[in-house]
Amino acid sequence: MARELEPALQQALRERLRFYRDLGLTELYRRPIDGAPIQSLTNSFERTAHGGEEGAVAVRGPLAEPVGDEISSQSSFYPEDQAIRSRKSVTSPPESTGKVPPAQREAALRIIREDIGDCTRCALHKGRNKIVFADGDANARLMFVGEGPGADEDAQGLPFVGRAGQLLNNMIGAMGLKREEVYIANVVKCRPPGNRTPEPAEANTCSQFLFRQIEVVCPEVIVALGATAATYLMGQRQPLAGLRGRVHSFRGTKLIVTYHPAFLLRDPRQKKEAWADLQIAMRELGLKAPNRDSAH
Ligand code: URA
Repeated sequence: MARELEPALQQALRERLRFYRDLGLTELYRRPIDGAPIQSLTNSFERTAHGGEEGAVAVRGPLAEPVGDEISSQSSFYPEDQAIRSRKSVTSPPESTGKVPPAQREAALRIIREDIGDCTRCALHKGRNKIVFADGDANARLMFVGEGPGADEDAQGLPFVGRAGQLLNNMIGAMGLKREEVYIANVVKCRPPGNRTPEPAEANTCSQFLFRQIEVVCPEVIVALGATAATYLMGQRQPLAGLRGRVHSFRGTKLIVTYHPAFLLRDPRQKKEAWADLQIAMRELGLKAPNRDSAH
């Protein structure tokens, strides 16, 4: 039976729809959930919300492939107690639709930041000092996605500025790039207490903003740093070892999975493996490692 959407979900869907309208994406489609067609989502905002069944909207354009004349039930908000579902049906978006022109990406990212606002959507807000939105170039070809802010990031409001950040900077440098040339964001934007792994409800609530950031920046390659980033980008939990060493896809963007820098600080022997993963990213970007001799 159709039931009302949670107010927070309604709000999130409203924001997402507004964002797509801002981008000029007005063709929205829906498809049945468990075989039962849902009411028009747009109408449901005007009247009572109908039958969302926890499903987030997907739209034709940058996020989803067309699915007839129905809005996709593909979820960005996974129920807390369910395994993360595959995002297979929303991969491979049409290449040319909905891309934010490079000159407008800074502004589009600012809109996402404004949408986050002084967020209280999940419990992580209670312990945070600063929301950590992102750092780097809005037109970056390469994007790194981490798990969530730690103490240093929470204090400064910037991702990867602590010890793990130092190592990430070195990794970026080894690729022949500067930190300012890439884009860095996290699955959750507020620090989990004690640096614990974000709960699925927290990550699923916050990842909508990460997905919007990815959509705006439109990187050629995404590097997922660690299991949490890999899980929420791939839409399923899998051991990191099985994901490393090859190219995956996040909605049509090349996705490479490697170890989190914090893990590499604990087990530096794995740096060689991480470097092999970064070399895959470099190959995909057509980058050559800088000549060590010329670096001095
Ligand atoms: N670890 C992360 O995953 N992200 C940060 O921003 C810092 C540490």
